[in-house]
Amino acid sequence: MDVGDIAVLEREDLDMLIAALRSMGFRTIGPVVRDGAIVHGAVSGAHDLPAGWHDHQEPGCYRLEQDESPELFGWAVGPASWKSEFFAPEETVWRASITAQQVTLSEPDDAAGPVAIIGARPCEVSALAVLDRVLMGGAHPDDRYAARRDGAFVVAVECGAPASTCFCTSMGTGPSARGAFDLALTELVEGGHRFHVQVGSEAGAAVMARVPHRAITESDRSARQDVLEDAETRMGRSLDTADLPGLLARNLEHPRWEEVAKRCLSCGNCTLVCPTCFCSDVSDVSDVSGTVERQRRWASCFDLDHSYLHGGPVRLTTASRYRQWLTHKLSTWWDQFDESGCVGCGRCLTWCPVGIDLTEEAAAIRAADGAVATGERRAS
Ligand code: SF4
Ligand code: SF4
Repeated sequence: MDVGDIAVLEREDLDMLIAALRSMGFRTIGPVVRDGAIVHGAVSGAHDLPAGWHDHQEPGCYRLEQDESPELFGWAVGPASWKSEFFAPEETVWRASITAQQVTLSEPDDAAGPVAIIGARPCEVSALAVLDRVLMGGAHPDDRYAARRDGAFVVAVECGAPASTCFCTSMGTGPSARGAFDLALTELVEGGHRFHVQVGSEAGAAVMARVPHRAITESDRSARQDVLEDAETRMGRSLDTADLPGLLARNLEHPRWEEVAKRCLSCGNCTLVCPTCFCSDVSDVSDVSGTVERQRRWASCFDLDHSYLHGGPVRLTTASRYRQWLTHKLSTWWDQFDESGCVGCGRCLTWCPVGIDLTEEAAAIRAADGAVATGERRAS
Protein backbone atom coordinates (compact mmCIF):
# COMPACT_ATOMS: atom_id res chain seq x y z
CA MET A 1 0.00 0.00 0.00
CA ASP A 2 1.05 3.62 -0.59
CA VAL A 3 0.19 6.92 1.06
CA GLY A 4 -3.45 7.71 0.28
CA ASP A 5 -4.43 4.08 -0.32
CA ILE A 6 -7.45 2.56 1.37
CA ALA A 7 -8.03 -1.03 2.44
CA VAL A 8 -10.04 -3.08 4.90
CA LEU A 9 -8.69 -4.71 8.06
CA GLU A 10 -10.84 -7.47 9.54
CA ARG A 11 -11.55 -7.18 13.26
CA GLU A 12 -9.60 -10.36 14.03
CA ASP A 13 -6.52 -8.84 12.38
CA LEU A 14 -6.46 -5.78 14.64
CA ASP A 15 -4.15 -7.74 16.94
CA MET A 16 -1.74 -8.08 14.02
CA LEU A 17 -1.67 -4.32 13.61
CA ILE A 18 -0.84 -3.79 17.28
CA ALA A 19 1.74 -6.63 17.17
CA ALA A 20 3.37 -5.08 14.07
CA LEU A 21 3.74 -1.75 15.86
CA ARG A 22 5.23 -3.44 18.91
CA SER A 23 7.65 -5.47 16.82
CA MET A 24 8.83 -2.21 15.22
CA GLY A 25 9.78 -0.90 18.65
CA PHE A 26 6.75 1.23 19.50
CA ARG A 27 5.14 1.38 22.90
CA THR A 28 1.47 0.95 22.05
CA ILE A 29 -0.78 3.22 24.09
CA GLY A 30 -4.51 3.31 23.56
CA PRO A 31 -7.90 3.72 25.19
CA VAL A 32 -8.55 1.69 28.33
CA VAL A 33 -11.21 1.86 31.02
CA ARG A 34 -9.82 3.03 34.35
CA ASP A 35 -11.40 4.80 37.31
CA GLY A 36 -14.77 4.98 35.54
CA ALA A 37 -13.50 6.75 32.43
CA ILE A 38 -11.87 6.05 29.07
CA VAL A 39 -8.25 7.06 29.57
CA HIS A 40 -4.92 6.03 28.01
CA GLY A 41 -2.91 2.99 28.97
CA ALA A 42 -0.64 0.26 27.60
CA VAL A 43 -2.42 -1.83 24.97
CA SER A 44 -0.83 -5.15 24.00
CA GLY A 45 -3.75 -6.38 21.91
CA ALA A 46 -7.38 -5.74 21.02
CA HIS A 47 -8.41 -7.46 24.28
CA ASP A 48 -7.19 -4.35 26.17
CA LEU A 49 -9.52 -2.02 24.23
CA PRO A 50 -12.86 -0.93 25.75
CA ALA A 51 -15.21 -3.39 24.00
CA GLY A 52 -18.86 -2.50 24.44
CA TRP A 53 -18.20 0.62 26.50
CA HIS A 54 -20.14 3.79 25.71
CA ASP A 55 -20.07 7.16 27.37
CA HIS A 56 -22.77 9.62 28.32
CA GLN A 57 -21.53 13.19 28.50
CA GLU A 58 -23.20 16.47 29.34
CA PRO A 59 -21.72 19.69 30.67
CA GLY A 60 -20.48 18.74 34.14
CA CYS A 61 -21.37 15.06 33.67
CA TYR A 62 -19.59 11.89 32.47
CA ARG A 63 -20.82 8.35 32.82
CA LEU A 64 -19.66 5.05 31.27
CA GLU A 65 -21.86 2.07 30.52
CA GLN A 66 -21.04 -1.31 28.99
CA ASP A 67 -23.31 -3.45 26.83
CA GLU A 68 -22.94 -6.54 24.67
CA SER A 69 -22.02 -4.66 21.49
CA PRO A 70 -18.68 -5.62 19.92
CA GLU A 71 -17.63 -2.02 19.23
CA LEU A 72 -14.17 -1.14 20.48
CA PHE A 73 -14.39 2.58 19.76
CA GLY A 74 -18.03 3.34 20.61
CA TRP A 75 -17.30 6.36 22.79
CA ALA A 76 -16.16 9.98 22.52
CA VAL A 77 -13.04 11.53 24.05
CA GLY A 78 -12.43 11.04 27.78
CA PRO A 79 -10.66 13.34 30.24
CA ALA A 80 -7.13 12.41 29.13
CA SER A 81 -5.79 13.99 25.97
CA TRP A 82 -2.76 12.84 23.99
CA LYS A 83 -1.03 16.07 25.00
CA SER A 84 0.24 14.34 28.13
CA GLU A 85 2.18 11.73 26.10
CA PHE A 86 4.33 14.45 24.56
CA PHE A 87 4.10 17.35 27.00
CA ALA A 88 4.26 15.75 30.42
CA PRO A 89 2.03 17.15 33.18
CA GLU A 90 5.08 17.22 35.44
CA GLU A 91 8.71 16.49 34.65
CA THR A 92 12.30 17.31 35.54
CA VAL A 93 13.87 19.37 32.78
CA TRP A 94 17.45 19.28 34.11
CA ARG A 95 19.30 18.28 37.23
CA ALA A 96 22.49 19.72 38.74
CA SER A 97 24.71 17.99 41.29
CA ILE A 98 26.87 20.42 43.20
CA THR A 99 30.01 19.41 45.06
CA ALA A 100 32.87 21.51 46.41
CA GLN A 101 34.78 20.77 43.22
CA GLN A 102 32.21 21.06 40.46
CA VAL A 103 28.71 21.45 39.20
CA THR A 104 27.45 18.62 36.96
CA LEU A 105 24.41 19.26 34.80
CA SER A 106 22.35 16.47 33.26
CA GLU A 107 19.07 16.10 31.43
CA PRO A 108 16.86 13.14 32.34
CA ASP A 109 16.63 10.63 29.50
CA ASP A 110 13.37 9.79 27.80
CA ALA A 111 14.20 6.12 27.89
CA ALA A 112 10.65 4.97 27.25
CA GLY A 113 11.08 4.85 23.45
CA PRO A 114 8.80 5.95 20.63
CA VAL A 115 5.09 5.73 21.17
CA ALA A 116 2.31 4.58 18.88
CA ILE A 117 -0.97 6.13 19.95
CA ILE A 118 -3.98 4.05 19.04
CA GLY A 119 -7.43 5.55 18.80
CA ALA A 120 -6.73 9.28 18.50
CA ARG A 121 -9.97 10.94 17.43
CA PRO A 122 -9.80 13.35 14.48
CA CYS A 123 -10.21 16.34 16.82
CA GLU A 124 -7.23 15.04 18.79
CA VAL A 125 -5.10 14.67 15.67
CA SER A 126 -5.93 18.32 14.97
CA ALA A 127 -5.09 19.24 18.56
CA LEU A 128 -1.65 17.67 18.18
CA ALA A 129 -1.10 19.75 15.04
CA VAL A 130 -2.03 22.87 17.04
CA LEU A 131 0.42 21.90 19.79
CA ASP A 132 3.14 21.15 17.22
CA ARG A 133 2.81 24.68 15.91
CA VAL A 134 2.99 26.17 19.39
CA LEU A 135 5.75 24.01 20.84
CA MET A 136 7.86 23.29 17.76
CA GLY A 137 7.02 26.10 15.36
CA GLY A 138 8.73 29.08 16.96
CA ALA A 139 12.28 30.27 17.28
CA HIS A 140 12.71 28.27 20.52
CA PRO A 141 11.19 24.84 20.02
CA ASP A 142 10.56 22.67 23.04
CA ASP A 143 13.21 19.96 22.53
CA ARG A 144 11.59 17.47 24.88
CA TYR A 145 8.21 17.73 23.14
CA ALA A 146 9.86 17.61 19.70
CA ALA A 147 11.86 14.48 20.53
CA ARG A 148 8.74 12.63 21.68
CA ARG A 149 6.65 13.78 18.71
CA ASP A 150 9.33 13.01 16.15
CA GLY A 151 9.27 9.26 16.51
CA ALA A 152 5.57 8.91 17.29
CA PHE A 153 3.09 6.89 15.22
CA VAL A 154 -0.56 7.98 15.14
CA VAL A 155 -3.42 5.57 14.53
CA ALA A 156 -6.49 7.77 14.27
CA VAL A 157 -9.99 6.33 14.61
CA GLU A 158 -12.74 8.29 12.93
CA CYS A 159 -15.60 9.21 15.18
CA GLY A 160 -18.82 7.24 15.09
CA ALA A 161 -20.10 8.09 18.57
CA PRO A 162 -19.86 11.81 19.32
CA ALA A 163 -20.95 13.04 22.73
CA SER A 164 -23.51 15.73 23.37
CA THR A 165 -20.60 18.01 24.24
CA CYS A 166 -18.77 17.56 20.90
CA PHE A 167 -18.67 20.27 18.22
CA CYS A 168 -15.81 19.21 15.93
CA THR A 169 -17.92 19.78 12.80
CA SER A 170 -18.10 23.49 13.68
CA MET A 171 -14.32 23.65 14.05
CA GLY A 172 -13.59 21.65 10.88
CA THR A 173 -11.71 18.94 12.78
CA GLY A 174 -14.01 15.89 12.50
CA PRO A 175 -15.70 13.47 12.51
CA SER A 176 -13.63 12.28 9.52
CA ALA A 177 -9.86 12.07 9.89
CA ARG A 178 -7.74 14.81 8.43
CA GLY A 179 -4.22 16.06 8.98
CA ALA A 180 -1.17 14.23 10.22
CA PHE A 181 -2.08 10.62 10.94
CA ASP A 182 -0.12 7.54 9.91
CA LEU A 183 -3.18 5.32 9.68
CA ALA A 184 -6.83 6.28 10.05
CA LEU A 185 -9.35 3.58 10.90
CA THR A 186 -13.11 3.68 10.77
CA GLU A 187 -14.84 0.98 12.78
CA LEU A 188 -17.60 -0.74 10.78
CA VAL A 189 -19.86 -3.15 12.61
CA GLU A 190 -22.90 -3.62 10.34
CA GLY A 191 -22.28 -6.38 7.78
CA GLY A 192 -19.25 -7.77 9.60
CA HIS A 193 -16.91 -6.23 12.15
CA ARG A 194 -14.04 -4.61 10.25
CA PHE A 195 -12.06 -1.39 9.84
CA HIS A 196 -11.80 0.94 6.87
CA VAL A 197 -8.10 1.92 6.80
CA GLN A 198 -6.55 4.99 5.17
CA VAL A 199 -2.77 5.21 4.87
CA GLY A 200 -1.53 8.68 5.78
CA SER A 201 2.26 8.31 5.70
CA GLU A 202 5.16 6.14 4.55
CA ALA A 203 5.41 4.82 8.10
CA GLY A 204 1.73 3.84 7.92
CA ALA A 205 2.35 2.03 4.63
CA ALA A 206 5.29 0.17 6.19
CA VAL A 207 3.09 -1.05 9.03
CA MET A 208 0.30 -2.14 6.69
CA ALA A 209 2.83 -4.18 4.72
CA ARG A 210 3.08 -6.41 7.82
CA VAL A 211 -0.65 -6.68 8.44
CA PRO A 212 -3.19 -8.80 6.51
CA HIS A 213 -5.77 -6.64 4.70
CA ARG A 214 -8.09 -6.86 1.75
CA ALA A 215 -9.29 -4.62 -1.06
CA ILE A 216 -12.12 -2.24 -0.26
CA THR A 217 -15.59 -2.82 -1.73
CA GLU A 218 -18.39 -0.39 -2.48
CA SER A 219 -20.27 -1.68 0.52
CA ASP A 220 -17.29 -0.90 2.80
CA ARG A 221 -17.11 2.62 1.38
CA SER A 222 -20.78 3.28 1.89
CA ALA A 223 -20.69 1.78 5.40
CA ARG A 224 -17.96 4.28 6.34
CA GLN A 225 -19.97 7.11 4.80
CA ASP A 226 -22.99 6.06 6.87
CA VAL A 227 -20.91 6.09 10.08
CA LEU A 228 -19.60 9.60 9.40
CA GLU A 229 -22.96 11.01 8.31
CA ASP A 230 -24.62 9.53 11.36
CA ALA A 231 -21.90 11.05 13.59
CA GLU A 232 -22.48 14.48 12.03
CA THR A 233 -26.20 14.32 12.67
CA ARG A 234 -25.58 13.24 16.28
CA MET A 235 -23.02 15.96 16.98
CA GLY A 236 -24.28 17.39 20.23
CA ARG A 237 -23.41 21.04 19.81
CA SER A 238 -22.34 23.67 17.35
CA LEU A 239 -20.36 26.88 17.55
CA ASP A 240 -20.96 29.73 15.14
CA THR A 241 -17.40 30.60 14.13
CA ALA A 242 -18.26 33.49 11.78
CA ASP A 243 -15.94 36.37 12.73
CA LEU A 244 -15.57 34.81 16.18
CA PRO A 245 -12.17 36.48 16.83
CA GLY A 246 -13.63 39.89 15.97
CA LEU A 247 -16.82 39.24 17.93
CA LEU A 248 -14.92 38.50 21.13
CA ALA A 249 -12.37 41.27 20.61
CA ARG A 250 -15.10 43.91 20.46
CA ASN A 251 -16.97 42.51 23.45
CA LEU A 252 -14.31 42.57 26.15
CA GLU A 253 -16.65 44.59 28.38
CA HIS A 254 -19.70 42.39 27.81
CA PRO A 255 -21.69 41.76 31.04
CA ARG A 256 -21.68 38.04 30.24
CA TRP A 257 -18.11 37.79 31.59
CA GLU A 258 -19.38 38.83 35.02
CA GLU A 259 -22.35 36.47 34.76
CA VAL A 260 -20.23 33.41 33.96
CA ALA A 261 -17.82 34.40 36.74
CA LYS A 262 -20.63 33.94 39.28
CA ARG A 263 -20.61 30.21 38.40
CA CYS A 264 -16.94 29.67 37.53
CA LEU A 265 -14.89 28.22 40.39
CA SER A 266 -11.59 29.25 38.78
CA CYS A 267 -10.54 25.62 39.31
CA GLY A 268 -8.64 25.32 36.02
CA ASN A 269 -10.14 21.92 35.10
CA CYS A 270 -11.00 23.24 31.65
CA THR A 271 -7.38 24.13 30.93
CA LEU A 272 -6.03 20.82 32.25
CA VAL A 273 -8.31 18.65 30.10
CA CYS A 274 -7.94 20.85 27.02
CA PRO A 275 -5.75 19.13 24.42
CA THR A 276 -4.25 22.42 23.22
CA CYS A 277 -3.60 24.40 26.43
CA PHE A 278 0.17 24.58 26.73
CA CYS A 279 1.03 26.86 29.66
CA SER A 280 3.57 25.60 32.17
CA ASP A 281 5.47 26.86 35.20
CA VAL A 282 9.02 26.01 36.15
CA SER A 283 10.45 25.89 39.63
CA ASP A 284 13.94 25.07 40.89
CA VAL A 285 13.99 22.63 43.79
CA SER A 286 17.10 21.95 45.86
CA ASP A 287 17.89 19.55 48.66
CA VAL A 288 20.59 19.27 51.32
CA SER A 289 22.62 16.78 49.27
CA GLY A 290 23.46 19.53 46.81
CA THR A 291 21.12 18.45 44.03
CA VAL A 292 19.07 21.07 42.22
CA GLU A 293 16.26 20.15 39.86
CA ARG A 294 14.38 22.34 37.43
CA GLN A 295 10.85 21.02 37.35
CA ARG A 296 8.16 21.91 34.87
CA ARG A 297 4.46 21.35 35.40
CA TRP A 298 1.29 22.33 33.60
CA ALA A 299 -0.11 25.68 34.66
CA SER A 300 -3.51 27.26 34.24
CA CYS A 301 -4.49 30.81 33.36
CA PHE A 302 -7.16 30.41 36.04
CA ASP A 303 -4.47 30.47 38.74
CA LEU A 304 -4.21 33.89 40.33
CA ASP A 305 -0.42 33.88 40.13
CA HIS A 306 -0.40 32.98 36.45
CA SER A 307 -0.67 36.66 35.56
CA TYR A 308 1.76 37.86 38.24
CA LEU A 309 3.72 40.75 36.76
CA HIS A 310 6.04 43.05 38.64
CA GLY A 311 4.34 43.24 42.03
CA GLY A 312 1.00 41.48 41.55
CA PRO A 313 -1.37 39.60 39.29
CA VAL A 314 -3.00 41.62 36.51
CA ARG A 315 -6.08 39.38 36.28
CA LEU A 316 -7.50 39.67 39.76
CA THR A 317 -11.09 38.64 39.08
CA THR A 318 -12.58 35.34 37.92
CA ALA A 319 -14.34 37.28 35.15
CA SER A 320 -11.01 38.51 33.80
CA ARG A 321 -9.51 35.03 33.97
CA TYR A 322 -12.44 33.36 32.21
CA ARG A 323 -12.36 36.11 29.58
CA GLN A 324 -8.63 35.56 29.09
CA TRP A 325 -9.16 31.84 28.58
CA LEU A 326 -12.08 32.06 26.19
CA THR A 327 -10.73 34.95 24.14
CA HIS A 328 -7.34 33.23 23.84
CA LYS A 329 -8.88 29.98 22.63
CA LEU A 330 -11.23 31.50 20.11
CA SER A 331 -9.79 34.89 19.23
CA THR A 332 -6.20 35.88 20.05
CA TRP A 333 -4.88 32.39 19.23
CA TRP A 334 -5.57 33.40 15.63
CA ASP A 335 -3.27 36.44 16.05
CA GLN A 336 -0.53 34.30 17.57
CA PHE A 337 -0.75 31.11 15.52
CA ASP A 338 -3.11 31.86 12.63
CA GLU A 339 -5.61 29.19 13.67
CA SER A 340 -8.15 28.41 16.36
CA GLY A 341 -6.96 27.24 19.77
CA CYS A 342 -10.11 25.14 20.09
CA VAL A 343 -10.72 21.91 18.15
CA GLY A 344 -14.24 21.30 19.48
CA CYS A 345 -13.48 18.20 21.59
CA GLY A 346 -15.96 19.26 24.28
CA ARG A 347 -13.77 18.21 27.22
CA CYS A 348 -13.92 21.60 28.90
CA LEU A 349 -17.72 21.33 29.02
CA THR A 350 -17.86 17.80 30.41
CA TRP A 351 -15.16 18.26 33.02
CA CYS A 352 -16.23 21.68 34.25
CA PRO A 353 -17.65 20.92 37.71
CA VAL A 354 -20.40 23.49 37.22
CA GLY A 355 -21.07 22.67 33.58
CA ILE A 356 -20.01 25.93 31.96
CA ASP A 357 -20.39 25.54 28.21
CA LEU A 358 -18.00 27.47 25.97
CA THR A 359 -20.42 27.27 23.01
CA GLU A 360 -23.21 28.75 25.13
CA GLU A 361 -20.99 31.57 26.38
CA ALA A 362 -19.86 32.49 22.86
CA ALA A 363 -23.48 32.36 21.62
CA ALA A 364 -24.66 34.62 24.45
CA ILE A 365 -22.05 37.20 23.53
CA ARG A 366 -23.00 36.93 19.87
CA ALA A 367 -26.69 37.35 20.67
CA ALA A 368 -26.05 40.73 22.29
CA ASP A 369 -23.21 41.82 20.00
CA GLY A 370 -23.36 45.57 19.54
CA ALA A 371 -25.90 46.04 22.33
CA VAL A 372 -23.14 46.59 24.88
CA ALA A 373 -21.92 50.14 25.14
CA THR A 374 -18.20 50.46 24.62
CA GLY A 375 -16.25 52.26 27.26
CA GLU A 376 -13.04 52.31 29.17
CA ARG A 377 -11.72 48.82 29.79
CA ARG A 378 -12.47 47.85 33.32
CA ALA A 379 -9.48 47.54 35.64
CA SER A 380 -9.48 43.90 36.63
S1 SF4 B 1 -11.44 24.74 24.51
FE1 SF4 B 1 -12.69 23.03 25.23
S2 SF4 B 1 -13.68 22.19 23.39
FE2 SF4 B 1 -12.00 23.51 22.72
S3 SF4 B 1 -10.25 22.12 22.44
FE3 SF4 B 1 -10.10 22.94 24.55
S4 SF4 B 1 -11.22 21.45 25.82
FE4 SF4 B 1 -11.76 21.02 23.68
S1 SF4 C 1 -14.95 27.25 33.52
FE1 SF4 C 1 -15.43 25.47 34.81
S2 SF4 C 1 -13.62 24.14 34.67
FE2 SF4 C 1 -13.00 26.20 33.96
S3 SF4 C 1 -12.18 27.23 35.77
FE3 SF4 C 1 -14.36 27.76 35.66
S4 SF4 C 1 -15.41 26.21 36.92
FE4 SF4 C 1 -13.33 25.42 36.52
